Amino acid sequence: MALGTASTRTDHARTVRDLLASGERSYSFEFAAPKTEKGERTLWNAIRRIEAVAPTFVSVTYGAGGSSREGTVRATERIATDTTLTPVAHLTAVNHSVAELRNVIGQYADVGIRNMLALRGDPPGDPTGEWVRHPQGLHYAVELVRLIKESGDFCVGVAAFPEMHPRSTDWDTDVRHFVDKCRAGADFAITQMFFHADDYLRLRDRVQAAGCETPIIPEIMPVTNVRQIERFAQLSNAAFPADLAERIRAVEDDPAAVRSIGIEYATELCARLMAEETPGLHFITLNHSTATLEIYENLGLHQRS
Ligand code: FAD
Repeated sequence: MALGTASTRTDHARTVRDLLASGERSYSFEFAAPKTEKGERTLWNAIRRIEAVAPTFVSVTYGAGGSSREGTVRATERIATDTTLTPVAHLTAVNHSVAELRNVIGQYADVGIRNMLALRGDPPGDPTGEWVRHPQGLHYAVELVRLIKESGDFCVGVAAFPEMHPRSTDWDTDVRHFVDKCRAGADFAITQMFFHADDYLRLRDRVQAAGCETPIIPEIMPVTNVRQIERFAQLSNAAFPADLAERIRAVEDDPAAVRSIGIEYATELCARLMAEETPGLHFITLNHSTATLEIYENLGLHQRS
């Protein structure tokens, strides 16, 4: 039996591809791989609260190595087996041989997971450091897309970068490599977080001008405290917008005011993106559901549940 046709497949194993093709908009939430038992409890608290609003799918980031990877696989499997949610399983090529990647794909398939996000990943430790391929591994995400597609009937997502991938030298090359992932079989994409809707719209135009219609779901992360200004830049390799940083720093001694500005900014960004008919919204939760659920409610989406 090909992977992905396991008898454990359930209703919540519907594919993101089919959902988007039906014209429905996708609303999804991303969690981070837990590193400790306490972290796991926090994660599950957030998952249960998100479950109550019946999102299209949820995903758990793939750790850089060791126990955090086991945490990703365990949490993603548990979402598939113990909740009503549809999981999209992240997978990266970092420090994995092809045999190991096949093994993880098989583990996901065994619990009925049909949707995966195929990523190259960044070097562990210093994300800007040299990317070294595992001797029996893969070099680029496009190869992982092919590997997953060959392994069974999976729906595959890939990453897209509204401010260009930091390792790309120019837009034409960046878009060409993105389109290659789509031609290799990617069914949808999720962007890196960003702050200006125009960055997303320009990327979408560039991809469409290259003849590619793969739906690109924008990723949103609300700023809820001052420390996140630095964290954002580290996570996204993109500049934090000066106007937002200035507004936040002006009230930095008042955590409630900082949070309120962050949520208002993210809500306005989401509203603009929805007006531009994006195929969905993907929220980074950092394993705390409250801020993203507040935005969800501000957008009038709560009544979906
Ligand atoms: P690729 O598509 O392989 O691109 C990487 C670079 O190589 C780009 O500059 C591209 O233009 C270039 N390139 C591609 N193909 C070729 C080629 N044939 N020849 C020459 N150059 C080429 N990281 C994690 O570790 N875990 C996660 O769970 C995770 N989740 C993420 C979720 C989202 C939505 C996003 C946007 C990113 C996520 N990341 C995660 C980070 C991601 O792994 C990194 O940003 C990584 O640097 C890029 O991955 P990619 O899949 O886009 O790589």
